[in-house]
This record gives sequence, C-alpha cells and structure tokens, in this order.
Amino acid sequence: MAGLSSPQVAGAWRFRWLAPAAILIVGALAIALSSDLPANIRSGLSGAAFVLGCISVTISCRQRISTNTGRRRRAWFLLAVAGGVAALGNLYLLVVADRTGARSGASLADVALFVALLLGIAGVLNFPIAQRRATDLTRMVLDGVVIGGSILFVISITIIPQVMSGTSTLLSSRVLPLLVPVLDVVIASLTALLCLRSGPGDRPGLAMASIGFALFAISDFTFLVRNAHGGYLLGGPADLGWIAGWAMITLAIVAPDTSDNPEIEPLIEAAPIAGTILTFGSFSTAAVLSLIKSATIGAASSVLWITVLAAVTTRQILLIIDNERLRRYMELRVIERSNALRTVTQQSDLVVDSVGDGIYGVDGDGLITFINPAAARVLGYEPSQLLGREAHSAFHAIRPDGTPYAIENCYVTEAIRNAVITSAEEDVYVRADGLSVPVEVTATPLTVVGPRGQNEVRGAVVVFRDVTQRREVDRLKSEFVSMVSHELRTPLTSIRGSLGLLTGGALGQLSPAATSMARLALDSSDRLTRLIDEILDVERIESGVLTFTVARHAARELIDGAVDHLQVLAATAGVRVEIGAVAGEVNADADRVVQTLVNLVGNAIKFSPRGGLVTVRARMRGAYIEFRISDQGRGIPEDKLEAIFGRFEQVDSSDAREKGGFGLGLAISRSLVERLGGRLWAENNPDGGATFRFTLPAPTDVAEPDYLEKASRNAG
Ligand code: ADP
Repeated sequence: MAGLSSPQVAGAWRFRWLAPAAILIVGALAIALSSDLPANIRSGLSGAAFVLGCISVTISCRQRISTNTGRRRRAWFLLAVAGGVAALGNLYLLVVADRTGARSGASLADVALFVALLLGIAGVLNFPIAQRRATDLTRMVLDGVVIGGSILFVISITIIPQVMSGTSTLLSSRVLPLLVPVLDVVIASLTALLCLRSGPGDRPGLAMASIGFALFAISDFTFLVRNAHGGYLLGGPADLGWIAGWAMITLAIVAPDTSDNPEIEPLIEAAPIAGTILTFGSFSTAAVLSLIKSATIGAASSVLWITVLAAVTTRQILLIIDNERLRRYMELRVIERSNALRTVTQQSDLVVDSVGDGIYGVDGDGLITFINPAAARVLGYEPSQLLGREAHSAFHAIRPDGTPYAIENCYVTEAIRNAVITSAEEDVYVRADGLSVPVEVTATPLTVVGPRGQNEVRGAVVVFRDVTQRREVDRLKSEFVSMVSHELRTPLTSIRGSLGLLTGGALGQLSPAATSMARLALDSSDRLTRLIDEILDVERIESGVLTFTVARHAARELIDGAVDHLQVLAATAGVRVEIGAVAGEVNADADRVVQTLVNLVGNAIKFSPRGGLVTVRARMRGAYIEFRISDQGRGIPEDKLEAIFGRFEQVDSSDAREKGGFGLGLAISRSLVERLGGRLWAENNPDGGATFRFTLPAPTDVAEPDYLEKASRNAG
C-alpha cells in the first residue's frame, strides 16, 4: 500500500492501479474457489480473503480520514472502524471454523459482522447530503428498513420459506444470522438513497460502496438459503460476493476526493422521487405477495412483515408531520412577507401622496395608471377623473407657444420607447379650466424584469413641478435689476459729465488738490458705470431681450476693431498685442463679437507682466471659426478653468481690487458666444500663460465640411 502515500490530485480519480489489482485478485479467487482444490485450502483462502478484504477497507477508509474534515471525516472514520470490527469477526471465523469449512449457527463472527454493519450505517448517515435534517435522515433509515425488510420478506415466503418458519424469535440463536442480510439491504439501499441526495463529489464513492453492500446482501442471502438446506460450506463460489463486496468498498477510495468541496454542496436532491419509488416498489411487491401467500407465512416472516408495515407507517407519519410543519412555516412566511410588502406599499403611497411635486404613472400606451393628489390639484382634476385617460391628450397637447404637439414627439413617449430618462425644463400643462401651467418635467421609464431576465419597459413615471411662482419671481427680479440699473445710470451720467467739466477746467482752474479729488471721483464713477453696464448686459442676455444683428464679417476686421480699442490699455500696461494668423469669416453680430474680444484681450493684457506678449489668432475649424487669445501671464489654476465663467467669479479676491474687474466679463462673453451658436473655454499654455478660445459659426457657403464628414468621404 506504499502507493497510498503518493501525492493526490483533489477532484481526480486516484490509485488507478487499485482497480485492475482488485479485479485480478477477485478473478484468481473465483478460479480457486470453483476449482477442485481440497476443501480446507479453499476455506482457508476464503477466510484469508475476508480478513484481507476487511483490512484493505479499513486502510482505504483511513486514507480518506486523513484527507477530509468535518462530517465526511467522521463518516470515513466510522466506516474504517466497521472494517476493523468485521476483520476481527472474520479472523475469528477463520480460526474457529471447523476443518470441513461448515459455518452454522450464531457465532461471535456473526455478532461482529452485525456490529460492523451497524457502524457502517452510522458512517453512511454522516455523509453530507443536500438537506441535512433529522427527519430526512430518519426517513432514509426507515426507507432502508422498508426496502431491506420487503426484499427479505419476499425471499422468506418465496425462495426459502423454511428459513423463516418455525418458532424462532428475534432473541433465538438462529435469528442473528437472519438479521445480517436485512442490515445488508438496509445499508445498501441507504447508501443508494444517499448517493441520490449527496453532492456530485461524494456520489462515485457512495455508488461503489452501495454496490459493495448489495454484493454482501446477495452472499448473505445465499448463505441463508444454503444453510437452511444444510449445504453451506466456507470456501465455495458463494463467498465471492463477500470478497467482491469488500473489494468494491475498498475501491471507493479510487473515486475523486471531495476534501476541497464545501461540506454541503448546494445541490437540490438529484432524484427526490427515485428513493420513494424504490421504497414503495419493494413494499408493494411484498404486500402483493403477502396477500397471495397469506396462508404460508410463518411466524418469523410475520414479525418481519409487521416490522416493514411499522416502518412504512412511521415513514408516512413522519412525512405528514414534516409536510404539515413545512406548510405552516410557508404560510407564516407568506403572511410575514405580505405584511412587509403592505407596509412598504403604504409607506411609498404616503410618500407619493404627501410630496409637493406632481407624480403620475403611465402604461406603455400612455394611459394614466396612478396620479398623486399634488398632480391632480395642479391640473385642477380629482385623481379619479384622470385615471385611465391618455395623459398626453388630457393635459399635454400643446407646446409652450400654443402649437399642437403629437404624442410621438412627447418626451414621455421617448422615455418609454428608448428606455431613457427624459426631461423638459420649460413645458406647459393645460389645466381642467383651460389655463396653462408652466412646468418642469422628468419622465423615468418603468422597467420590470421579464420572464427571461431581460428588462422590459412597462410605462413611465412622470414627476413635474409647477414653476409659475418661480418664473414670476425671476421676472420680478429682472425687472427690479433693470429698473435699479437705469435709475442709477441716469444720475451717474450727469455726475460723470459734471466731473468731466470740472477736471477739464471748463469751470475755471481748480487747485491741484481739488483736481486730483475730481479725477478720483471721475474714475470711480467710470467704474460704477462699467459695473452697471455689465449688470445690464447680464440681465438682458438672461431675459432674452438682447437682440442680435447677425451678418457676415471677416474675422480680421473684428479682431482689428477690438485690438484698436485696447491700444491705450496695452501701452499703459507695457504689453505688446500681436495679431497672428487670421483667416475666415463669421456669421455673427459684429458688436457682440468685438465686445467678447475686447473682454478676452483686455483680460490677457491685465493679467500679463510688463513686457509680455498677447497674441490673437483665428482659423477655420470645420463649420466654425476658432478665435484664440494667448498671453504669457500667470495662467489659471486647473480647478478654476471652468469656475471663472461663473458670475462674480475671480481666481483671487484681490483681482477685483488690483485689476479693477468685477468677475462678470467672462460670464457675459460665454453667454454671448453661446447665443451666437458657439462655445468659449479656457486652457493653460504648456509654457505658461493662458489661452482663451471661442468658436463662432462660419457662413454656410464658406464652411469647410465637417471633419467626420470629410473622413467618411475619404474612406468612401
Ligand atoms: P474681471 O472683470 O474680474 O476680469 P472676468 O470674468 O473677465 O472678470 O474674469 C474673471 C477672472 O478670471 C479674473 O478676475 C481673473 O481672476 C481670471 N482671468 C481672466 N482672464 C485671465 C487671464 N488671461 N489670465 C489669468 N486669469 C484670468
């Protein structure tokens, strides 16, 4: 057995040499036991083979003990002990069997084999099975008793009525050898049932053990029959069943080891009905025979029959109790789950009912399936009046400008059709009284998991908010800002005029101190005028009152205009402004483009060091002209590249003081560019300084084809 210690591959068949070796040994013994060798030699051979068989089973089980843990380890341990006890019994048989090889009556050997079988049953019951519950195990043992008892009963009243006839009681010395085959069948059927209910890892080993026990049963029955006729002799071919049985159980070790598998594999009973069919098949056969042969049933057979009946009854009672318990448990779980579901539903109903936003659901056809009180209130209906109606035609049939609106173009339909979240910031719903309500809407598709696990859109949930008040507040704010700005601008104009006259000496010569005071006042009123102008610009752009005169202009002409405007500022700051390569024409409002350029070039000059260079370029990019203003100034921190386009946003709070800005220029410039159909963004130059870029649409007849288009045409 030196090979047993060789390295093992978990999950693979091992000790392959064992199978041919076992076949050779059993084959040789089959020849020897059927030959004319002297009886004592044959009985010696048989006895020795029994002992060696038991020992090899013990060794093979021991091997499994060392590679397993938990319940499997215990199972193999009990089987190893069973093998050891059986070896002792067979050794006794070998030593004390009379020289002629006769083996009759109860002996210590039978007691040992009986105990070994009980240990074997205990071992087999320790294997992990799919559902490990006490009732399952009990039921399996009872099934084994029913199958074993039924088979023995059938044999007892058909083949060997004399074996079971007479006045034997269970305690008599003749009954113990009778119990051995019963236990054989019990353990064989138990192992077979377990094989059906265990994980795939344990199955091959259990199947082989089951065959081994079945072989024992055949030999034990043969022994009973022969013995009943007084014709059993140790050393005959009948012994081969035992020898092959031990060999088979030894071979269970060849099956892949399951030590790396989880203790209980996630397996649903492989053949739950197979066990029941086996049990009731054998029981029914026995029952039919008991009816046919009722006259010839002996006392011992009757005891056996009663045992089988008791086992069947107990099995069924257990099953009924178990099923009842299971039913109650399931009922309880259903009630628990239903309650939990009801609570969740109540909570979500409460949330939907109490939120201020309008919420309604539509099915795949756009029909309203639910609507919350807030939604019904905004729309001027009772919730029940809207249920089942098509949402689109009921209150969503017009655009904000009053034109009709087809359901196919509705964003709710789009959310359902494309399974995407859609929204509309400026939409209008029509109330029951015909008035319209400005709303902000989001539609989310309602998906459910279909039978094949795929997501199916069943409708949409629409959330909307009445923005009447917000729009009103916005309007009032705009009005207020423009009114205040105008009210400030008018007196400011006369203040500036008067101060201009004063500093210009038109009203007589002032003292130097008074002149410097008047200049300071003039600078401050200029600054105030600029602030008011910028606030007014922001306001006009936001409220949409700013109108644009879009026409065709050469980029060069616009850049020249802006740079001329900034000559004085550049000279004062000691910064050189250079116009680089400029090409193309734009389709835009010239004043607004110059305003943007002045702002960006002005910033570049302001944030450049004395002696620095500001470059302005323009080039065609697809259907757009891209303007680029680069400087050699301090650049912009990466995290501020986007933030500086917000209102009153500056990189440093000292910028307002030192550079004289308000943080509104970039916000205005971006709004202007976007209104003209372009984009404006900032980036840092690799060698220091910042570059601001903005795009504007080129006139359509001169626009270069789009890059993508060009690429696809080239490819074609
Ligand atoms: P401001 O009137 O303060 O210049 P802007 O909106 O035009 O307002 O600019 C916002 C801020 O962005 C500036 O205060 C400055 O911090 C930063 N900024 C703008 N242009 C540049 C530039 N060329 N280099 C560095 N920082 C700049």
